Amino acid sequence: MATCSKTILQFARTGLCKHNWTRSRNIWSLSSLPETHQMLYKTVRDFTEAELKPNAAKFDKEHLYPKNQIKKMGELGLMSVDIPEELGGTGLDYLAYAIATEEISRGCASAGVIMSVNNSLYLGPIAKFGNKEQKEKFIRPFTTGERVGCFALSEPGNGSDAGAASTTANPGSSGSWVLNGTKAWITNGYEAEATVVFATTDKTKKHKGISAFLVPIPTKGLSLGKKEDKLGIRGSSTCSLIFEDCSIPKENMLGEPGMGFKIAMMTLDSGRIGIASQALGIAQVALDCAIDYASKRNAFGSPILKLQAIQTKIAEMALRIEGARLLTWRAASLKDNKQPYTKEAAMAKLAASEAATFASHQAIQILGGMGYVTDMPAERHYRDARITEIYEGTSEIQRLVIAGNLIKEYGLN
Ligand SMILES: Cc1cc2nc3c(=O)[nH]c(=O)nc-3n(C[C@H](O)[C@H](O)[C@H](O)COP(=O)(O)OP(=O)(O)OC[C@H]3O[C@@H](n4cnc5c(N)ncnc54)[C@H](O)[C@@H]3O)c2cc1C
Repeated sequence: MATCSKTILQFARTGLCKHNWTRSRNIWSLSSLPETHQMLYKTVRDFTEAELKPNAAKFDKEHLYPKNQIKKMGELGLMSVDIPEELGGTGLDYLAYAIATEEISRGCASAGVIMSVNNSLYLGPIAKFGNKEQKEKFIRPFTTGERVGCFALSEPGNGSDAGAASTTANPGSSGSWVLNGTKAWITNGYEAEATVVFATTDKTKKHKGISAFLVPIPTKGLSLGKKEDKLGIRGSSTCSLIFEDCSIPKENMLGEPGMGFKIAMMTLDSGRIGIASQALGIAQVALDCAIDYASKRNAFGSPILKLQAIQTKIAEMALRIEGARLLTWRAASLKDNKQPYTKEAAMAKLAASEAATFASHQAIQILGGMGYVTDMPAERHYRDARITEIYEGTSEIQRLVIAGNLIKEYGLN
């Protein structure tokens, strides 16, 4: 890892880091991190306070894609955190990515998922499995926040059972591939200028017959479905990608034929660290909101923060958040150290998403009636939290991944 990314340094020098951090939450754990990560955290935190927190309610209410903010995040190096500098990326590691994604999501969960999909699900597999030409064409223009990519695995008929993909890719004329089928629920679908898409090249081999492809958007034969009207993360777009005799060049296959399922599963291992971090940001802002409100709201003659019943709630919220953060940073560090991390990423995502659901639920309880209306952000955090238990593998699937890995570790498979 570069000792100090030039992008982060540049922004630290602009005076964005203006706060006194000694009283900041969570500083105990940050102080044990390398200087680069601490500097990154402070830079992203200031960006979040200035650019995301004041606008997040508007993005949510108006279903508005935070275009300017994503561009600025690109300028900060946040849209390609662990992509090597020679490809236009920031050249930091996954721990840095986890810290930055949490901070961004603390300000705006929609910006968090847009960032996470571009970093983990789109750029990640191309950086790992792409050849030189593919990296130049499909990575470099997507590092700056000007363009975003997406990842198309789920289908209307199968989400958890991704190996049952029914989208097909058949050989066309002069070595091209012709794609047919529908991919469902695709984050960034309305803004994406390219997608990593999974399609079956050999049905007889079931999941071993799935291959991965890179498709620029727009491409003839590829159309978008309606924009989904969602419970939360409403600043990010979600839609279907419909392939109808969509012809792409032979060289757009990512990896080898039949490698698609493996590419998808490896990508989701990394992606789960991103979603765990997004969930942590949502959980943390719910806790911040609850403590702030409880310190100002009086009942029976004193702030409700003095009541043990409230203190028990905030202690439980903090406990679950800190535990999930340690799991998330452990998974990121294992990835950075090239150690296996499938089980640890699943544990991080499961713990962080359940912490987010719990913390945002408790925050509403602590705010009472004010938690239930849009004058306060607690209800948005509650809506935003819910998706983290569903996408990139539901909580039920994370439990299966953890148990499956344990069974292997015990030699009982
Ligand atoms: C807002 C949003 C954004 C998304 N973004 C993307 C994206 O960018 N790219 C993409 O490819 N996909 C995306 N998805 C799809 C998402 O990953 C799937 O919705 C998710 O994997 C669940 O699949 P499903 O909806 O088909 O549910 P199903 O698989 O039908 O599951 C329904 C229920 O059954 C349970 N279940 C299923 N199988 C098992 C099992 N073996 N054991 C126990 N329980 C089980 C599930 O946990 C769930 O509770 C997104 C979804 C949403 C809602």
